Amino acid sequence: MREGEKVLLVDPRGKRYLVTISNREFHTDLGILNLGELHEKDYGDTIESHRGEKFKILKPDINDIIAKMRRGPQIVHPKDAGIIIAYAGISPGDTVIEAGAGSGALTIFLANIVGPSGRVISYEVREDHAEIARKNVELAGFSDRVTIKLKDIYEGIDEDRADHIVLDLPQPERVLPHAVEVLRPGGYFVAYTPCANQVHRFFQAFQEYREHFMKPRVVEVLVREQEVKRDCMRPKTTMLAHTGYITFLRKL
Ligand code: SAM
Repeated sequence: MREGEKVLLVDPRGKRYLVTISNREFHTDLGILNLGELHEKDYGDTIESHRGEKFKILKPDINDIIAKMRRGPQIVHPKDAGIIIAYAGISPGDTVIEAGAGSGALTIFLANIVGPSGRVISYEVREDHAEIARKNVELAGFSDRVTIKLKDIYEGIDEDRADHIVLDLPQPERVLPHAVEVLRPGGYFVAYTPCANQVHRFFQAFQEYREHFMKPRVVEVLVREQEVKRDCMRPKTTMLAHTGYITFLRKL
């Protein structure tokens, strides 16, 4: 394995550590690891701490990156990112315009699905958030296909054409006039909004643009995790009850 590569280490309790391969020590409560030893290892091998505790070496995926990355504003949860990608049919090679970039979590999900031949152009109005998103996208290894743009998307979209527009910001209705200009026929306008009154306000504004879109669809995604024991399976007592409403409009 190469210097600078990111690997996931899993300790005997299942605790995960995202580390970078380099000739340095990494301290855990189960002992010290010499990360230089990773050069001679492969995924699936183990590395031992000075106390003899074995850590499994895995290739990290985007969920590991998102779990460990620096957070700025609230991120879009994987359950919502999944439905956005699936319902809008976002595919390898697509160009997606996103706003705001925030912490870059949804940017990373989008970049992962559009692949190396696709593009994600993410507008962000706050410089500090743009910087966090840029670093997180780099950590995920997607800087080649993502541009974080320091710009207010309400003022306009610079690009001539987009396959999809995906928004997580307070007033998505203010992007409708720009979306009508740049969205390709068949592409999706997706708005993620935490509050019902935002959806309501969006639909009031949407009336003016309805001739440009197919019938809208609004969903909320609930995931009920199960607790599986030897003699009983039942829903977990607590669950992530509400994150946001997701509105899908398909361009005609
Ligand atoms: N989806 C992001 C993620 O998963 O990490 C989180 C987005 S965060 C909740 C909303 C972001 O939208 C903030 O960073 C905010 O600064 C940005 N924002 C708000 N209005 C904007 C606008 N008009 N243009 C661009 N970005 C905007």
